[in-house]
Amino acid sequence: MTVPVPLSILLDLDGVLWRADDPISGAADALARLVAAGHRVAYFTNNSYPRVADNVAKLRGMGVVTTAELVLSSAQAAAMLGTPGERALVVGGPGIVESLEARGLVALACDGPGESAGFDLVVVGIDPAFDYRRLARAMAAVCGGARLVGTNSDATYPTPAGELPGGGSILAAVAVASRADPVVAGKPEEPAAELVRHRLGRVDLMIGDRISTDGAFARRLDAAFGLVWSGVTPADHGPIDPAPDHEAADLAHLVDDLLGRWF
Ligand SMILES: [Mg+2]
Repeated sequence: MTVPVPLSILLDLDGVLWRADDPISGAADALARLVAAGHRVAYFTNNSYPRVADNVAKLRGMGVVTTAELVLSSAQAAAMLGTPGERALVVGGPGIVESLEARGLVALACDGPGESAGFDLVVVGIDPAFDYRRLARAMAAVCGGARLVGTNSDATYPTPAGELPGGGSILAAVAVASRADPVVAGKPEEPAAELVRHRLGRVDLMIGDRISTDGAFARRLDAAFGLVWSGVTPADHGPIDPAPDHEAADLAHLVDDLLGRWF
């Protein structure tokens, strides 16, 4: 058979490499084996909360060597929907503020009551301190004319103790309150795909735990989809669309399969 080396492989983080702060067993070693086999490995997370350096440090802390250029996020995709010089109100974490500022926008954290006039966009991601006052201010800014941008539409976020509300749940609250139709930036949407094409070029295989984002994103990138059951999709899932090209209990088993098949 033709050995497809080197492959460009894009991996989701939550539910694939870790659940919240707990590394998933065998993931770091599996990545090392992919790199040793000559493949290029990069990452795209829909979690917009951490800064790029936080994600890089977390990867290095579990033994994964990478660089900031290879760690992409929905916060960076959302920033591409802004224009340098615009003012953004941020319901979310420091990763969004960092990405907007890197693109030349003026970003203000929505950390309580305050001004709501004069914003060009409201960017919403996961925000563990989200409350009624933040919702009210974001609603006022959108009703005042700001565009509503969501970093992602994931309803939930996997943790070792089970799922918690994700950025999509917070976005839904702001959208309903302000009666606005949000533009979503992260996987599987086009701004995320544009970011990947610009930064990484071609992707051959997208590995993730969520069918509605990672699977659909694989299709948008014209890449194969590798599904792992270590996150939000259980092993006993029914028929799914898009059907994965590869699936396994976790990244370690998926990589065992892939390397066994290719070599
Ligand atoms: Mg995930």
